[in-house]
Amino acid sequence: MELRIEGLSKTYPNGVRALDNVSLTIPCGMYGLLGPNGAGKSTLMRTLATLQEPDSGTASLGDIDVLRQKEEVRRRLGYLPQDFGVYPRISAQDMLDHIALLKGITNGRERKEIVAAMLRRCNLYDSRKKALTGFSGGMRQRFGIAQALLGSPQLLIVDEPTAGLDPGERNRFYNLLAEIGEQVIVILSTHIVEDVMDLCTNMAIIHEGKVLFQGRPEEAISELKGRVWQRSIAKAELPAFEERYKIISSRLVGGRPFIHVLSGQPLNGGFQASVPDLEDVFFVKIRGWK
Ligand code: ADP
Repeated sequence: MELRIEGLSKTYPNGVRALDNVSLTIPCGMYGLLGPNGAGKSTLMRTLATLQEPDSGTASLGDIDVLRQKEEVRRRLGYLPQDFGVYPRISAQDMLDHIALLKGITNGRERKEIVAAMLRRCNLYDSRKKALTGFSGGMRQRFGIAQALLGSPQLLIVDEPTAGLDPGERNRFYNLLAEIGEQVIVILSTHIVEDVMDLCTNMAIIHEGKVLFQGRPEEAISELKGRVWQRSIAKAELPAFEERYKIISSRLVGGRPFIHVLSGQPLNGGFQASVPDLEDVFFVKIRGWK
């Protein structure tokens, strides 16, 4: 099964064109949708989760028309929105039980087993009786995945799931996502390059509502082979370098700017060849450089 998106466009009433003729083919496995804030990721995720209408375009999940057969989609969908926002004073176990009931698991005994297994899988079993209000950011995201996975979805959408997690929590969350079967389409929307690098076999880069790249991360990286150069410079030199070179990124290392530059020609004068990574690709694409 695959998810096929063709020509989706959406302009909000304030005139912002959040999706501009987006076409993507998304196979089973982990798919990264990478874009800066405001790129249109959540708009696309909400549209695929049947929560909002595009102005034009189509989407199909296998032979289901996503925009018309909403109930069919919802039965196969697990969704963790960017802002889950539901952390009532009830326990994780009771909340999952309630959500499982809403998802149609009506047999009480079966539900109890499913909920217990899900709590174990998401490493929340020991905290099952704790109120959700007291959960940490990482626990909340794992709870979010637990509720999304109830009912064995074929399409799992997680919108910016690792924002705000500390490195340990992010790692635990990655491990959980990585265990989800190969038979499920998992769309991970994120502005964090490592999320895609570490988890996704296929990806797209989206910016200002447009798809700038789709394919495998290593394909994107190989396009930049031999074209990224790096060096450390003095802070005062930065404006002159910005004039002269295509600076992909600049970060401080030991208080000095360390720059990555895009150039088809070898650069002398203190530059060294740099092995390109997905972050280089991301910045090159969103700047519209070839
Ligand atoms: P992302 O998830 O990549 O950050 P969004 O889909 O949330 O991007 O937003 C894309 C663009 O659409 C942004 O410019 C945002 O301000 C705008 N936008 C999102 N939702 C609305 C809305 N309900 N009304 C008007 N503009 C919106």
